[in-house]
Amino acid sequence: LKRKGGDVTLPDFYDEGTLVGVLTTQPLNRVLDYRAPEGGCHLGAFVEVPLGPRKVLGVVWGTGKGDFDATKIRAVIRVLDVAAMRDEMRVFLQRAADYTLTPLPAMLRLATRAPGLADPPSMRRIYRRGQGRPARMTDARDRVLTALEDHGGLAFTLKELAELAGVTPSVVKGLVPSGAVREEDSPRDLPFPHLDPTRPGKALTEDQAGASNVLRDGLRAGGYGTTLLKGVTGSGKTEVYLEAVAECLAQGRQALVLLPEIALTAEFLTRVEARFGARPAEWHSGATMTERRRIWRMVGQGRAQLVVGARSALFLPFRELGLIIVDEEHDNSYKQEEGVLYNARDMAVLRAAICGARVVLASATPSLESWANVEAGKYAKVELTSRFGEAVLPDMATIDMRAEKMPAASWISPSLRDAVRARLKLGEQAMLFLNRRGYAPVTLCRACGQQVGCDHCDARMVEHRFLKQLMCHQCGETRPIPKTCPSCGAEDRLAPVGPGVERLAEEAAALFPEARIATLSSDLFGSARALKTAIEEIAAGAADIVIGTQLVAKGHNFPLLTLVGVIDADLGLQGSDLRAAEHTFQLMRQVAGRAGRAERPGIALLQTFQPEHPVIRAILAGDEDGFWRAEAQARQSAGVPPYGRMAGIILSGTQMQQVFDAGNTLARNDGALRSIGAQVFGPAPAPIARVRGRHRVRLLVKADRRAPLQEALARWIAPLRLRGDLRLAVDIDPQSF
Ligand code: ADP
Ligand code: ZN
Repeated sequence: LKRKGGDVTLPDFYDEGTLVGVLTTQPLNRVLDYRAPEGGCHLGAFVEVPLGPRKVLGVVWGTGKGDFDATKIRAVIRVLDVAAMRDEMRVFLQRAADYTLTPLPAMLRLATRAPGLADPPSMRRIYRRGQGRPARMTDARDRVLTALEDHGGLAFTLKELAELAGVTPSVVKGLVPSGAVREEDSPRDLPFPHLDPTRPGKALTEDQAGASNVLRDGLRAGGYGTTLLKGVTGSGKTEVYLEAVAECLAQGRQALVLLPEIALTAEFLTRVEARFGARPAEWHSGATMTERRRIWRMVGQGRAQLVVGARSALFLPFRELGLIIVDEEHDNSYKQEEGVLYNARDMAVLRAAICGARVVLASATPSLESWANVEAGKYAKVELTSRFGEAVLPDMATIDMRAEKMPAASWISPSLRDAVRARLKLGEQAMLFLNRRGYAPVTLCRACGQQVGCDHCDARMVEHRFLKQLMCHQCGETRPIPKTCPSCGAEDRLAPVGPGVERLAEEAAALFPEARIATLSSDLFGSARALKTAIEEIAAGAADIVIGTQLVAKGHNFPLLTLVGVIDADLGLQGSDLRAAEHTFQLMRQVAGRAGRAERPGIALLQTFQPEHPVIRAILAGDEDGFWRAEAQARQSAGVPPYGRMAGIILSGTQMQQVFDAGNTLARNDGALRSIGAQVFGPAPAPIARVRGRHRVRLLVKADRRAPLQEALARWIAPLRLRGDLRLAVDIDPQSF
């Protein structure tokens, strides 16, 4: 990521009437000229401006160009009562836009995802400790006053305070007349409770202390730096990076922890609370509008010390960002695949480099990208080599499915069945892992042989028996399970083919009738809370067999679990995706890492039809460096990431011919790409060729690491006229290639 040439210094204040350039969130291709409002405005100020008949949100982006009819230039309506955007944020948005070839307004939308930003803060009643004392003291009243005193001056809503003290709201109200509790109106944005970085953490092992010191030293040295924190699951990575967070907070700077999976947040928040005495700000898609706005504003004022969130938290307006943790940095979900296509891990590094913060990438199974950056000396690396306490890594073995006698429509081999039985006898838990949601991946008509597909996508409808419906995993369309075949009309001839977790659970129930079975799959839980409860119950021993999709592969700690059976270790190796090996390797090691977390040793059994496959062998051997070296070499000779650069151009539209024509036009006119030595492949149907009724074709561009790819791409696609409902999206560093 290179600095754009010609960064100019801008005045940081514009007097009333001077020309300012305002970037709005509207899809326009340029920064618009306005006159600074009465009282002037700062560079970076959030403003409301007139656009046609509307008022829209914008940011003062610089000096106006003045190339517009001066008499038509309108004035900024008002400056919003929020902290101005900092220079580093403007630079970040600009570079991120340049890197991902995203129009700046779309980037600004990511940075203003707090609804109602333009509204003045609404008011609410809050309650805090006053000077007075009630004439009559009761237990309940005492609890209220103690709760307030314990929270040093903080204010609460009536409901919060009543809950905190364990009293009814009327008790709180009853304390108001005496002045013991003050009732006041306050803007909705309550500050976050203080996190205390000086509280002692857990006593670290020698290994952990070493890693923690490296991270702390980095923060003390100041400036940008990225460190890969590698350690097997259960080695204490979280403990270690919380030490880095403590250091950052002690410096009075803000920290951001990115997590890939909302379901994991609850456990993490509890750990933060145990470490720092209070909960951090929690930024995720499920947060209410009020909560989002509160976090956005508080982060901007530097009054939220720590934010835990999903990838979009990266675009919050931090005032003094000192540290970004990317936990499970290899996780696919960091790649945003709709709207603005960006990888939060890479954007975290970019943002940190601009504002002089440190980055910690934590993983048991780092991405090849990060591995290569360590090899190239761009990232530092610290490693935790053993699990905390007595826990040891599980043994791993394959079950050769070619040699197993499998009854029809069954997926648990006799060998795996016996292993599970043995664990059940010992009162331990077993997990069966299958990365397929639903009952069966395919529903086939036995009369005509057709599979039931989605009407809008190039995808099969997946039977979800528990929910009694067929579902498309691409667009989410559902319909009742039909009695007759949609193709030939034959009655009662539709049959499930292949296993999903629900079907596997059915088989397990038949094989182990005495066992308590819990199935974990995202669609079986109405809310993150329900899932969290299920996970806690399992951890406490409420199930003998856990059956799950990749939801269970991540981070959860099941102390009684000693056996992991992988139903189909070959699943990820099919297909032509060059990242398949990497992903299978990571997923298998993550899943296996679930076994034997406490004092009991674990074992992982992989059912496979190709035990000699190099990836399967590498997983078994646990020779990670060997695996990465081989994988790196393969990618290097293919000239693909992280050694070469790639970009996908995805064209979509309802008219297939039009989409292909546009693709062919691009492919024919590839002069801009050839000028930098890049090659273009395609157009070909995209990995999913039709989604929500739109046909999709993809062109893949491959270039040398050092080639100015973005610039050439921009020149290449600029002349293409997007007719009708045709759309074009650029995907830099695509996940599959
Ligand atoms: P990772 O993030 O590498 O999976 P965790 O930080 O979650 O590992 O640690 C695994 C478990 O071991 C957690 O329950 C954690 O609280 C515990 N643990 C790790 N290190 C220590 C320590 N030094 N003292 C006490 N408990 C620890
Ligand atoms: Zn669909």
